[in-house]
Amino acid sequence: MSQSSCIFCKISQKIIPSTKVFESEDVFAFHDIQPAAPTHILIIPKKHIATINDLDADDANILGNMMLAAKQIAADLNVAEQGYRLIVNCGPDALQSVFHIHIHLMAGQKMGWPPFPGKAISH
Ligand code: AMP
Repeated sequence: MSQSSCIFCKISQKIIPSTKVFESEDVFAFHDIQPAAPTHILIIPKKHIATINDLDADDANILGNMMLAAKQIAADLNVAEQGYRLIVNCGPDALQSVFHIHIHLMAGQKMGWPPFPGKAISH
């Protein structure tokens, strides 16, 4: 269920401190330690799942609960109406750095699109 070397497992187990904003039976959420937006929350499953590539069908309920947590956190932090972005990085091109899946909930400023430097690709 959890991996002893995983920093986000340790955060959800409260072995490593965090600034918690939400907790349920299977989901935990806390402020990102290096915020990239005025509001920057990480929503994680308590179960250790390294990347989106490692999901299986049994995880569907957990993922649904992570999304429902995002909705509740956005409302609780008063960013629901103004808007927010949910991001899941997977693998090296997306710059995933912590290998325990997490949704970034980012809000509090007008964002750009596309979310990476350079021009959009034309097909
Ligand atoms: P990613 O690059 O998508 O894997 O995002 C990992 C995120 O975890 C980064 O935004 C980090 O700032 C954040 N992070 C890493 N360690 C901690 C920590 N101990 N507490 C809170 N956020 C963290």
